[in-house]
Amino acid sequence: MDKASRQRFIDRCIHFPLDVTGVFGYSKAEVTAGGIDFAEINPKTLESKLAPGLFFAGEVLDVDGRIGGFNFQWAWASGHTVAQALLKK
Ligand SMILES: Cc1cc2nc3c(=O)[nH]c(=O)nc-3n(C[C@H](O)[C@H](O)[C@H](O)COP(=O)(O)OP(=O)(O)OC[C@H]3O[C@@H](n4cnc5c(N)ncnc54)[C@H](O)[C@@H]3O)c2cc1C
Repeated sequence: MDKASRQRFIDRCIHFPLDVTGVFGYSKAEVTAGGIDFAEINPKTLESKLAPGLFFAGEVLDVDGRIGGFNFQWAWASGHTVAQALLKK
């Protein structure tokens, strides 16, 4: 391919707009948005400010990430944070 053809090929690959026309609905959903407000949580321990002694981890909190492992990471990291906080109780 000459340079102009390569550039056209790259342009077509990069500038290829795909419009989102809808979602598959709840049965195909991979993460739930919403949940317990972080303002009601101690961010260092994930203990409730409203109900001391009650801890939360994972998706029950109002934390959600893009697809790509961020939600697993949050579930594991928040679970670890709660476990560490409970060990100090
Ligand atoms: C199809 C699918 C694909 C996904 N793919 C990815 C991915 O590739 N990467 C990524 O990062 N995230 C992915 N996620 C999101 C990720 O799985 C979740 O964010 C994560 O598992 C949340 O962890 P969690 O411990 O908060 O909740 P959960 O994993 O939902 O655990 C909650 C547990 O509580 C139990 N439970 C519920 N009610 C009660 C009760 N009353 N009594 C006792 N137990 C109860 C449930 O049975 C469940 O075992 C995916 C989710 C789905 C649905």
